[in-house]
Amino acid sequence: MRMMSGNRGISETSQKRESVENKKDDARWIEITPEWAYWVDRESFNLKRVKKLVPIGSVIIVKSREKIEDERTYVDSSFGVINGKGIVNLPKKEASEILARQFIEYIKWKNQWPPFTSIKKIQKSGDVEISFDPTEYDSFRLIVTRQMLGSDPSESLNRLKKYQSPQVPLWKVETAKSGKSRCRSCNDVILEGRFRIGEPYFYEGSLSYKWYHPRCLTASLDIEELENLDGYKLLRSEEKLRLKRIFTI
Ligand SMILES: [Zn+2]
Repeated sequence: MRMMSGNRGISETSQKRESVENKKDDARWIEITPEWAYWVDRESFNLKRVKKLVPIGSVIIVKSREKIEDERTYVDSSFGVINGKGIVNLPKKEASEILARQFIEYIKWKNQWPPFTSIKKIQKSGDVEISFDPTEYDSFRLIVTRQMLGSDPSESLNRLKKYQSPQVPLWKVETAKSGKSRCRSCNDVILEGRFRIGEPYFYEGSLSYKWYHPRCLTASLDIEELENLDGYKLLRSEEKLRLKRIFTI
């Protein structure tokens, strides 16, 4: 499951996974196998963890942990685009140019700002520099020119609506108020006071949840997605840490 922020719910992710399944034979998706990488979903402008299949044309960020000295390390990013054969490595500037074109596709299609984007600078030439900061660690500068857009960039961008997240209920996290719910994955009881993560669904028109143990979701839910769960912000800080620890094992 891949959900990055705001209301881009995990609910979207199960559908997404299904669509990935359906697209296995579709040449537009390709299997790639870096251990640690993210791709930019041009439809949502979210960064998604590479699990297996990635759509051709996507910009990809491959992470690696590099040693500095002693025991110290840092995380290095390299960039590329997915073509029919795999990853084509690119300098970040070229990856950002691709993202700028995908940004334009997005705004023409949705008439709103993609998430994580804002105007950084309007250049003298009239070109607009957009910053795209999908995570705390990843930041791109997208240059949008009149030529690319076919109209004056700052005027067109001013007319865009603010980003609006899809109106779907979010997955939710909480501590179980009773010991009555069962995990839909392992079928064991979720004990009172323990974390449970709920998948929203509608029962006779009202919102309800299918509950899971966090440990039963570690294969399908990324640690980065936890912070976007409904209810996460209501957890105490030591609870947040405890929850995250379940996903780091
Ligand atoms: Zn379970």
